[in-house]
Amino acid sequence: MNLLARNIALWRRIRRREPVLWINTDLAAHDPRNDPHDRAVLEAESRLSRSAALMRRLFPELGVANYNLSPLVAAPFAGDANPRLAGRLFVKCDHALPLAGSIKARGGFHEVLAFAERLAISHGLLRPGEDLLRLAEPAARAVFAQYTLSVGSTGNLGLGIGVIASALGFRAVVHMSNDAKAWKKQRLRDRGVRVVEHPGDYAQAVEQGRRDAAQDPFAHFVDDERSLDLFVGYAAAARQLAEQLRAEGIEIGPHRPLFVYVPCGVGGAPGGIAYGLKRLFGQDAHLFFGEPVASPCMLVQMLSGLEQAVSVYDVGLDNRTEADGLAVAQASMLVAPLMQQRLSGVFTARDDQLFALVRHAHERAGLDIEPSAAMAFAGPLALVTSAAGRDYLKAHALGANMAAAVHVAWTTGGSLVPEAERQRFLSSGAEQTPQLVWT
Ligand SMILES: *Cc1c(COP(=O)(O)O)cnc(C)c1O
Repeated sequence: MNLLARNIALWRRIRRREPVLWINTDLAAHDPRNDPHDRAVLEAESRLSRSAALMRRLFPELGVANYNLSPLVAAPFAGDANPRLAGRLFVKCDHALPLAGSIKARGGFHEVLAFAERLAISHGLLRPGEDLLRLAEPAARAVFAQYTLSVGSTGNLGLGIGVIASALGFRAVVHMSNDAKAWKKQRLRDRGVRVVEHPGDYAQAVEQGRRDAAQDPFAHFVDDERSLDLFVGYAAAARQLAEQLRAEGIEIGPHRPLFVYVPCGVGGAPGGIAYGLKRLFGQDAHLFFGEPVASPCMLVQMLSGLEQAVSVYDVGLDNRTEADGLAVAQASMLVAPLMQQRLSGVFTARDDQLFALVRHAHERAGLDIEPSAAMAFAGPLALVTSAAGRDYLKAHALGANMAAAVHVAWTTGGSLVPEAERQRFLSSGAEQTPQLVWT
């Protein structure tokens, strides 16, 4: 099939909500001169490491030295009846990040820390580059108390921002969309965060929050669709993964390719990670994003070209999914262009497949994750069970090296999920035994 015919067939399958793997034909050899946010990523890495003592002070219950470090653990592939899966699978356990219980601890915490640092510097309370522990002192808290931090969220970003903003002494407001889970709202209210519920979807919650904050000079809106501070906070995770791989004795290179599968909502978290990993590993890193069949916003945007924003509603999808962290109809237009030459592809999965993968993670890997995070386990399956995936491996001459390949499934959330909700995920996964095959 030529490219046009292939794209027409793909669009048809996207509209029918079939799980697909799309391969990005614009993927290009990585050019380090083309890293517009290089410096901002380095600054984020520095800021996050300068915040460790502050976070221990703010959260005495933390119990870990580095609140920003998640484990990297070996795990079995899902659907392992499939003999074509070769190499080793690791799980990057961001679901276990403390305080936020999700990947939002990276970008969200970074943005709030960056804002607090700027305020403290402008009030003469901190010097640039200094350890951030001073942000816990009364003088800094008195400044922060004048400001409101707000955010629009389907749940997890609100949890992350709300928790750290209120701990630093800011007022915090979280605008939540209709798909936000009740327990996430309650948890925030318990922390003294104001939760504003919106009847509409995530983009509408963001829009309202953005409008409210624009009229208030003492308000800062954490803009998930546009924020560079969020993006580079996520990108800083790449160096952490690189160090963990090295500690395992794993050297990524042409003969040991790295495949990373990250669940994608608006694109900030997976985009930041992709950006960071391409800086470090260039063409030896292969980045794949996973999206629900009802909300494949990044896929739809990349397939449509980047001239104008396109939403999943525009192509007849409804953005309704149990993967609430991924229930986003419109991809970030900050991130999409940065992915054009970096992203290897996007796979999609149905909710019943995600529940089966939640159960796989629980039973085979001992990991309790939410459906959004389980998306990551679909990545290796999409790659080896689909014709598009096999063509990709052939085109990049990876066949012979696949036995040495390292796959990383990035589990993005779940450790704070209440027990009753966890049981519901697991029993949904037990009722259904969907085929884990991509065509
Ligand atoms: C937010 C989130 C993602 C995706 O992050 P985006 O920046 O929205 O793309 C993935 N998984 C979970 C659990 C999340 O909360």
